[in-house]
Amino acid sequence: KLILAVESSCDETSVAVIEDGSKILSNIVASQVKSHQRFGGVVPEVASRHHVEEMTVCIEEALVEAQIEPEELSGVAVTYGPGLVGALLIGISAAKAFAWAHDLPLIPVNHMAGHIYAAHFVEPLQFPLMALLVSGGHTELVYMKETGSFEIIGETRDDAAGEAYDKVGRVLGLTYPSGKEIDALAHLGQDTYHFPRAMIKEDNYDFSFSGLKSSFINTVHNAQQRDEELSVKDLAASFQASVIDVLVDKTIRACKEYPVKQLVMAGGVAANKGLRDRFSEEVAKELPGVTFIVPPLKLCGDNAAMIGAAAFVEAEKGHIADYHLNADPSLTFMSI
Ligand code: ATP
Ligand code: MG
Ligand code: FE
Repeated sequence: KLILAVESSCDETSVAVIEDGSKILSNIVASQVKSHQRFGGVVPEVASRHHVEEMTVCIEEALVEAQIEPEELSGVAVTYGPGLVGALLIGISAAKAFAWAHDLPLIPVNHMAGHIYAAHFVEPLQFPLMALLVSGGHTELVYMKETGSFEIIGETRDDAAGEAYDKVGRVLGLTYPSGKEIDALAHLGQDTYHFPRAMIKEDNYDFSFSGLKSSFINTVHNAQQRDEELSVKDLAASFQASVIDVLVDKTIRACKEYPVKQLVMAGGVAANKGLRDRFSEEVAKELPGVTFIVPPLKLCGDNAAMIGAAAFVEAEKGHIADYHLNADPSLTFMSI
């Protein structure tokens, strides 16, 4: 089965053609990141306008690269939330028009489910599994008893991990989004500042990153006021060590409490090298019999291939939308 998948929830316009939910025939990603950099974050209105400009070009390119005619497709998938409402609506409108024109079923996909299913391109997902979703807008532990079933067992009470990276990056004068650069700097420094590990000892699976962000900002401001030297490398290493410690500690604990065959880490922050390395080590040591899966770097950030993979499961379950499908900016999984 061939699915055309459309993603436009934030600042990437992306269209992919996926075969049987597991083979990428094409995955076109038009990133707008340069247009948002001078504002230090994504400007919703600018994002929507770029999606309008890029969408039809991306659809055409995805079909050409996959060497597929619309008649060969069996469905059109689209992200309908969570994300920026205006941005989502561009993808939804394009997907509806394409589905209508070619008489294809419309498959609605949750963007965060997409992030998890990006791991399916590495290795078939096996259930039950635990997924750590770490991205620009989310940090949550999702338990999947079976395919297509999502339960949030813990989540951030304030900032998402990626958001924290971007905010401290701004204080250091780095270019948005700064996760990748902080990751690189962290590997050159040491954890000398010992920032707090919020909620690490608490008996739940929730996270908090705003205290870490405040400690970081205070450290920088105090040093600036006293005209003291700061090591940007050590600041980055200390910040990253704190993020990694809490994410790894709580995730490993969750995998010990819940029966799991696999641990999936996904979302933009899953591209973090420090995090990938630590999880590989800890899972090997602490979770015998559990396989750790993380998507390749280019499938960690937003892309339509992951939407196509999740859509395949949704379609099998008969989850088809009609033309009333609307954007749901705060779409979420069930919490338990
Ligand atoms: P969401 O998926 O929650 O709706 P989003 O789609 O905007 O949010 P993603 O595109 O999945 O988020 O991820 C973007 C985030 O990933 C940014 O905050 C960015 O700084 C962060 N990021 C990217 N690479 C790295 C890295 N190597 N280390 C840490 N963070 C990173
Ligand atoms: Mg993005
Ligand atoms: Fe995302």
